[in-house]
Amino acid sequence: MEKVLGVDIGGTEIRFGIINTNGQILYEEKILARDPLYPYLEENVLRILAAQQEVRAIGVGTHGFVDPERGKVIYSPRILSGWSNTPVKEWLEKATGKHVEVENDANVVALAEANFGAAQRLNRVVVLTLGTGLGGGVLWDGKLLSGGPNGGAAEFGHMTLYPNGVKCICGRLGCSGMYVSGTALQRRIKEAGLSITPPELFGNASMDPHAKKIVEEFTTDLALVISNLQAIFDMEMLIIGGGVSEAADLWMDSLQQKLETVLLNPLEVEVARFKNDAGILGAALLVLEE
Ligand SMILES: [Zn+2]
Repeated sequence: MEKVLGVDIGGTEIRFGIINTNGQILYEEKILARDPLYPYLEENVLRILAAQQEVRAIGVGTHGFVDPERGKVIYSPRILSGWSNTPVKEWLEKATGKHVEVENDANVVALAEANFGAAQRLNRVVVLTLGTGLGGGVLWDGKLLSGGPNGGAAEFGHMTLYPNGVKCICGRLGCSGMYVSGTALQRRIKEAGLSITPPELFGNASMDPHAKKIVEEFTTDLALVISNLQAIFDMEMLIIGGGVSEAADLWMDSLQQKLETVLLNPLEVEVARFKNDAGILGAALLVLEE
């Protein structure tokens, strides 16, 4: 059975997975990301390929704006500053002699969920990933809606939610990712003078009115984002992934209440089935699907 390497590059760590046509993960490892990222990535890919010689191709999902046709990272506003303008496909193909495809990390989560997870057999699906930032992925008639002249399609984290609001890493004010993400929750917690983590916040919301208020603000903002996306895409399902989704059983009821008042039409909202593995599975699908 065919095997490929899926690589998931986040702001803090890189995950690698050897995956077969059935979506089974045969081997998995993760390492901390390092600046400059590209030489370190290449060195580790070559190390894994030396031990896994039957791997035919490499799929890479990465944070940042990506040109999927050229397999190039156009813009990456996160801590790995040297990652912008890296022609990952060109360099990695030259170094390995294997076929390489590159996509945005939230887009590959959408691929994983559509092929093996919550959205199987659906054609129009929107995925939000709530992690360090807010990522977005859209499956439109079964295909990823991605790229654009700036690689910025489906970057929902930079839709303006509050004009003149909190300053975003992109330099503008009030982007939705500054209100709907793990980082946003940490900011709200700090502003409220609490010293708890986001999972503790959700756990405390039933007893602590300060925690409850933050959760309500979070679900209100998330519902607004989802409502706007429904007006654009009229998707069959919305999937929420990323680290914040792991506590979804503690905030989903609140979100559903808020959605009732802002949605145009009923909408199925699901939590992503794959947690940390969605990135490597989806990245593998970039090269498995041909
Ligand atoms: Zn922004």
